Amino acid sequence: MRWFENVGRFVFGTECLGCGGVAERLDPWLCPDCIKELERESKAGVSPGGDAYSLFPMRPLTRRLVHALKYGGIPGMATYLVRHSSAVRGGFIGEELSMFPKPLYFVPVPLHRARLRERGYNQAEKIASALAVVVGGRVCRWLRRKTFVVSQTKLSKEARERNVSDAFECALPKELPVRGTVVVVDDVFTTGATTSACIAAFGHDFPLPIKVCTLIYDEPASVTADYVADCRMEWNL
Ligand SMILES: [Zn+2]
Repeated sequence: MRWFENVGRFVFGTECLGCGGVAERLDPWLCPDCIKELERESKAGVSPGGDAYSLFPMRPLTRRLVHALKYGGIPGMATYLVRHSSAVRGGFIGEELSMFPKPLYFVPVPLHRARLRERGYNQAEKIASALAVVVGGRVCRWLRRKTFVVSQTKLSKEARERNVSDAFECALPKELPVRGTVVVVDDVFTTGATTSACIAAFGHDFPLPIKVCTLIYDEPASVTADYVADCRMEWNL
């Protein structure tokens, strides 16, 4: 019977991707409580600082949703998260982006070809498209990946930096725009090594300002906080 229930939930889409609870009405992946929580998280205004902005902090809920975007085959999650980001819609990120020289060129961090084949889409490109629609701007594939990069998650901070520092090269159009702002877009900002390597690829004499925008900021303390929150959730079951 159990598998039957699960198939039913899957078919009718009643299982919330955030809390796993069964809700009568989902929108389309989250129950009303999780949507509220998502909007609250985005208001927290946790960002890496400098020229980098993140729409959400890494929390148990946002971790599950970005996991669904990257590994669950749900590319539509990118638009969903951007649209539910109060930081973008009327919040501090929306305000900051509106002050940069226009137009905004959203440049996704490229995926390696092998991973793109396996996943079928580049999640950073999906986020960039959603930002371009919501904030206004264009998506530009101005970066290319040079070398294969082994999975970042298993490496130390130093090893990650070495691993990605020379991973990208620029693929700019012949006629470079004379004004505007480049916004490098990625899914998760952890150490900043990936986006720094992207900025470095543009070179010192690149004439336009470059900013960074990621969906999630995995701030150094959140790993412990998530672990605690996950344990608490298990106790509540
Ligand atoms: Zn929920």
